[in-house]
Parts: sequence; C-alpha cells; structure tokens
Amino acid sequence: KINLDVVQASIRNIPDFPKPGIQFKDVTTAFKQPELMQFIVKETANHYRDLGITRIVGVESRGFILGTALAYELNAGFVPVRKPGKLPAETYKQSYELEYGTDTLEMHTDALSSEDVVLIHDDLLATGGTVGATIDLVRKFGVKKIFVNFFVELDFLKGREKIDEQVPVWSLIHF
Ligand code: 5GP
Repeated sequence: KINLDVVQASIRNIPDFPKPGIQFKDVTTAFKQPELMQFIVKETANHYRDLGITRIVGVESRGFILGTALAYELNAGFVPVRKPGKLPAETYKQSYELEYGTDTLEMHTDALSSEDVVLIHDDLLATGGTVGATIDLVRKFGVKKIFVNFFVELDFLKGREKIDEQVPVWSLIHF
C-alpha cells in the first residue's frame, strides 16, 4: 500500500553531489514508479482543488515534471520559469544570491495576467533562494493570489522562513 512513508523512502540520498559535503535528494527514484507517481500527483492536487488555480508556474528543470502533471490534474495552464537565455520572447529577469555569486531566472512577460491565481511548484525547497526569486517574478504580473508547493522540503535549512508570510507554502514530504 502506498503512503507518505513509502514515498519518502523512495527518495534516494546521494552524498557529495554536485559538490563535496552536499547530500543530494534524488527524486528520480520516486518518479520512475507508476504507483508513486499517481499517489504524489493526486495527493498534491487534492491539496489545491477548489482554490481557483489558473496557472502552475514550474521552475526549471525538475519543477517541470510534477508541475505539468499538476496543471493537467487541476485544469490549469503551465508556465515555465527558466535559466537565462532559454526563453525565446521578451522576459522579466530576477537575480538571486547563491553561496558563491548570483543566478538569474526568467519568465515571459506575457506568461501571466492580473486575473491569475498561481501555484508555484518546484521539486525541492532548500535555502529558499530559488523560490524567492520566482515569487518576485510572479509578483511583477500583479496576480490575484500566489501559492507555493514543493514535493520535498528540507526543514533543517529553514528555507520556509525566507518566504513571505502572505504566501501559503505546503510540501508533501519533509526531511
Ligand atoms: P534553494 O534555492 O532552495 O537553496 O534550492 C532549491 C533549488 O535547487 C530547487 O530548484 C531544487 O531543484 C534544487 N536543489 C537543491 N538541492 C537539491 C537536492 O538535494 N535535491 C534536488 N532534487 N534538488 C535540489
């Protein structure tokens, strides 16, 4: 029987990836299993039904996987947030701090409207830098409401504390 403990146990830990000292949570071992995929998508979608979500904003690149499934399940559209230089039309850009240096994310300037109710999705919340920049991007459109969802949240890194309290955050799995 599939439950949250089974899903949690399916996530593989990879030591020293992509750098020494980092314990990388590999979600591919969860996503490859059909029954787990069904459970993860249904449980997450159930959390967001009846909120009037019109668009899922998925963060490159692992946020595209469940983000697309959630869009389908919630009858919402899918909008990509991408690394610099990938999106072909005019974009908004938002930079954010990394441990060493900065990074930038982009969205098409016509990707959302002020009528949208947005669910931002990424596979994992670590320090919160990525989702912070994504929220800043989505705010440029003056949307009605923003929700944030992660498949996995690393509670000990306290990324949640960096997210504006106005934005409801919910994750399926916690480490
Ligand atoms: P943050 O900006 O919160 O520090 O890092 C989160 C971003 O980095 C997400 O886009 C996520 O995909 C990626 N990330 C950071 N650490 C991990 C990890 O251990 N596993 C996975 N799957 N992604 C990670």
